[in-house]
Amino acid sequence: MNNNFPGFIDLSLHLSTICTTINRTILHNKQISMSLSLQKLNNRKVAVIGSGISGLISSWLLRDQAEVSLFEAEARCGGHSNTARVEDTYGELSIDTGFMVFNRPNYPLLSKFFEELGVETYPTDMSFSVCLDGGKLEYAGNSLNSLFAQRKNIIRPSFLGMLRDILKFNASVKKLMRDPKLGNVSLQQFLDDNSLGSQFKTNYLYPMAGAIWSCPPKKIADFPALSFVKFFNNHGLVNIFNRPEWYTVKNGSKSYVERVTKDLGSSVNRSCRVSGVRRGVDKIEICFEDKRNLFFDEVIFACHTDEILKILQNPSKEEVSLLQSVPYQSNKAFLHRDEKVMPESKKVWSSWNYSARKTSLENSEVSVTYWMNSLQQLNTSNNYFVSLNPIKMPKDSLIESEYQYHHPVFNSQSNSLQDKLKKVQGKEKIWFCGAWTGYGFHEDGIRSGVAVARALGLKNKWEKEFEESSSLHKIETSKIGAAA
Ligand SMILES: Cc1cc2nc3c(=O)[nH]c(=O)nc-3n(C[C@H](O)[C@H](O)[C@H](O)COP(=O)(O)OP(=O)(O)OC[C@H]3O[C@@H](n4cnc5c(N)ncnc54)[C@H](O)[C@@H]3O)c2cc1C
Repeated sequence: MNNNFPGFIDLSLHLSTICTTINRTILHNKQISMSLSLQKLNNRKVAVIGSGISGLISSWLLRDQAEVSLFEAEARCGGHSNTARVEDTYGELSIDTGFMVFNRPNYPLLSKFFEELGVETYPTDMSFSVCLDGGKLEYAGNSLNSLFAQRKNIIRPSFLGMLRDILKFNASVKKLMRDPKLGNVSLQQFLDDNSLGSQFKTNYLYPMAGAIWSCPPKKIADFPALSFVKFFNNHGLVNIFNRPEWYTVKNGSKSYVERVTKDLGSSVNRSCRVSGVRRGVDKIEICFEDKRNLFFDEVIFACHTDEILKILQNPSKEEVSLLQSVPYQSNKAFLHRDEKVMPESKKVWSSWNYSARKTSLENSEVSVTYWMNSLQQLNTSNNYFVSLNPIKMPKDSLIESEYQYHHPVFNSQSNSLQDKLKKVQGKEKIWFCGAWTGYGFHEDGIRSGVAVARALGLKNKWEKEFEESSSLHKIETSKIGAAA
């Protein structure tokens, strides 16, 4: 049979012409839609509320793709990155009073960010001491001499029992992390179930964790066991050797804040407190304390959960549930020169010094003193300290400055945080970031800001570091049950 009769040939010709035309049209439409989406991205007005690490990074990453406006309530940017300038007899000193230290394995994004900005960092000392009941018990982990600074502890059964439990806990952490029960319980429950003694809890683990999270022992006891143990393991806190090297920023964290805000230029609006955020039909209205209002296409919250709940109007049930699952608690900080707040024995003086009145869970506040000369290698022979909720108040004449900080407090509800966040993230153009979305540290702040920027179209930037950072925090939700 001859298929080449004219009608067929005509039809194929027609079909091929139609196909070419369709293909051209698709290509053309694709080009139009690509240029439209690029245009859309370029014209998109994005508001960022809060200039801590999470607000700074999201603004900085999106600055070339959108019209970004960063609003900061305070006269200075940086949030918890807060460096004080002190006139010392040896010259001006830059002393950090908030964010101070990071390490490379657990801060992959922050390390990359500092590298890209050319921010200089140097190794720091992360020694830790405990001083309880006004010096009744004092020890530090730096050496055998500081561990047994009080010689009577060499034969004190309770102290030796604590050391035995530390070794037991450290040795079994990897196995404990695979325990399916871990996902459901608080830290206290978990420690009781594993027969770890009360001295281990109140004289070692809660002080150390309290100092790390700036959180009172009672709240540390409520911490979700799984994420706690994972954090301790990741940070090498269960290793006697092979702990990560910690770093601090040269001239204080202001060095990176100044660099980023310089790049952001006129997008930064200081002393500009947002008082209300309201979703409209296709724009979001932002109101300011001075009664002005502005409209945006996207809004990124980079402030604390309690503040978001205050200013976000008509939040959804899911948003309220997310924001209420990480409350904040207030801590007073003093930058001062009063050595009386430090442990009595100079042998145990460390970079981080925890103190408590009672060796129990009753303390409602955490008290930590950072010895800044040790942490930042200050170029002076005068001692400087940053004390959070000091038990002994530093003498007025020795106080340089005071600060009110707020820290996120994690509990068993925080286990389901990531799932809750996924449900609301980007809904009606409202985004959430902040250290509270992770463990509460700088890497969590930067990761959350990068995640929002990626969701808003950022591509091919720090892919490897983002993966690494996410896996460090990822909690296996399959292990999380009823507690959430
Ligand atoms: C004393 C101290 C020491 C710390 N040390 C370390 C450390 O060594 N390493 C580490 O990794 N982490 C440390 N942290 C944890 C630290 O909190 C986080 O690392 C991180 O800096 C928090 O960033 P963020 O962006 O979530 O919030 P923040 O830095 O708190 O920023 C929130 C910003 O939002 C602004 N804001 C609030 N409400 C409004 C509003 N209505 N309108 C406009 N702006 C608003 C605030 O003024 C603030 O600037 C420390 C914290 C403290 C307090």
